[in-house]
Amino acid sequence: MLELKNLTKVIGEKIILRNITLTLREGETLAVIGPNGAGKSTFFKCTVGLLQPSSGEIILDGEAVKKKSAAVKKKIGFLGHESFLYSNMTPLENLRFYGKLFKVRDLEKKSKELLKEVGLYLFRDTPIHSFSRGMLQRLAIAKVLLPEPKILMLDEPHTGLDQEAVALLNRIIKEKQQGGTSILIISHDFEQVHALADRVAILKKGKVVDTIELAQHLDLQEMKAWYEKVVKEA
Ligand code: ADP
Ligand code: MG
Ligand code: MG
Repeated sequence: MLELKNLTKVIGEKIILRNITLTLREGETLAVIGPNGAGKSTFFKCTVGLLQPSSGEIILDGEAVKKKSAAVKKKIGFLGHESFLYSNMTPLENLRFYGKLFKVRDLEKKSKELLKEVGLYLFRDTPIHSFSRGMLQRLAIAKVLLPEPKILMLDEPHTGLDQEAVALLNRIIKEKQQGGTSILIISHDFEQVHALADRVAILKKGKVVDTIELAQHLDLQEMKAWYEKVVKEA
């Protein structure tokens, strides 16, 4: 459903992404892992529209995505390192503002439900400038879920979260998986990747060097061994 074809990104003189071709299949969770500096975040930004790829195509449900239309933005929800929240607003105001952009139905009710789900309901009317990183991440999660995207793109979503927030995030990811959402998750956390993904791709020096299906018999140690071997040889 989301096809990336020959995605290339050049910044200055440097080729950051080289001909990445990867498909996020309907309803699957695909993890992208790789060494620091491999280009994972650049790949993420090019895919969600925060950066313009130098060349290549992004095809969503059979149609080439040129400019990110509202319809495309509604289909692809993303959670990156920046959460684009308004710090002078409360959680409820942030969700209202964002929900209106996507003409979310029953916005008020849905916003409150989501704030309950992420454990921020008690703080719904508190300006978020005093929030901890964990609280902001909770709000960012609520925000990304509000338009009910068909595709979720997550760049290192577990980083910096406390245990409780990690559990919450994983519960939400599993709920979305069961509901048929396609998920692309970038992570360096092998345990999370092993627990959540159906398929794993390794990115090294801007190239996809291997992918593997996480069949039930591939345990965490075997997945790590595969990664070490591929990264060494690629
Ligand atoms: P990863 O997320 O896998 O750690 P990044 O996508 O953040 O990798 O970075 C990949 C490479 O691209 C790194 O070498 C980084 O220094 C370089 N890079 C990323 N963004 C820029 C930029 N805006 N200008 C120049 N180089 C960049
Ligand atoms: Mg990095
Ligand atoms: Mg990164």
